[in-house]
Amino acid sequence: MPISFSAEKVAGVLGTPGSFPAEKEMGTFYKILGVRPNLRESRGNANFGFFKEFPMPDEKLGFVSEALDNYCVDHSTPASTICNEIETYTRKSVEQSMMLTGPLEGAFLKFLIRLTGAKRVLEFGTYTGYSALSMAEALPSDGKVVTLDIDPKNTAIAKEFWSCSDHGKKIQLILGDAVETVRLLEGQFDLVFIDADKPGYIKYLDAALAKLSVKGVIAVDNTLFSGEVLQKSPPSENGRAIAAFNERVRTDPKLDTVLLPIRDGLYLIRKR
Ligand code: SAH
Ligand code: CA
Repeated sequence: MPISFSAEKVAGVLGTPGSFPAEKEMGTFYKILGVRPNLRESRGNANFGFFKEFPMPDEKLGFVSEALDNYCVDHSTPASTICNEIETYTRKSVEQSMMLTGPLEGAFLKFLIRLTGAKRVLEFGTYTGYSALSMAEALPSDGKVVTLDIDPKNTAIAKEFWSCSDHGKKIQLILGDAVETVRLLEGQFDLVFIDADKPGYIKYLDAALAKLSVKGVIAVDNTLFSGEVLQKSPPSENGRAIAAFNERVRTDPKLDTVLLPIRDGLYLIRKR
């Protein structure tokens, strides 16, 4: 696996602002829908009839313009060299690279950990290890990230990268269906990041609430789901699962919540 890092390579993969050709034409459609679709995560998932004739770029596009997204990244604490390497490698060589969390959300999760003084983190959905390593980097040396995934192939890539970082030793990967695995975990967690299969989200939330420390926070990714949540009946199964999840959270009086439009939507939840 190539673990080399060069600015040119990253620039080549990330592209330059304004490099998305159909951006102008899509402006009309954003107005119709009221949001800008997150193409990075929606490909092969969401089925916006409007958009399918447009070329689907690999690159980041959230609910703000690409230029503003880049500006936010540029004005946030930068990702580590190894996280950048994970991003570069994943975008070049791994399927469904739009699933990778990326530098803005990574910086946000790190900020949250430092702000709350979290020491034990639980993650649902490891993929190639970007968010797990981001969070591990923000933890004290005796902190721990337990990360759950079902896929041995992509998590092998994650482990390879983590082994190159001093923070990698804080990460424990457990392979298997997260619903089964989480039952076996002991102790409480100060931060839970939910980012695995969307139909499992409600079960993951219930498990997370049962294991949350008193001041613990749960952060749930993709909760705007490229704007599908605005539709009465979201077109994809995942979109419907997210809409049901969001309703479950919204109607629970025991929860204190804020749904933030960071990237594809990040729902922050704590117990009142
Ligand atoms: N947090 C990651 C992205 C996670 S992508 C990052 O920042 O890069 C979603 C992951 O959920 C995939 O790796 C997939 O294998 C995993 N997943 C899907 N179904 C699962 C299940 N039932 N149990 C555990 N993990 C699952
Ligand atoms: Ca995600």
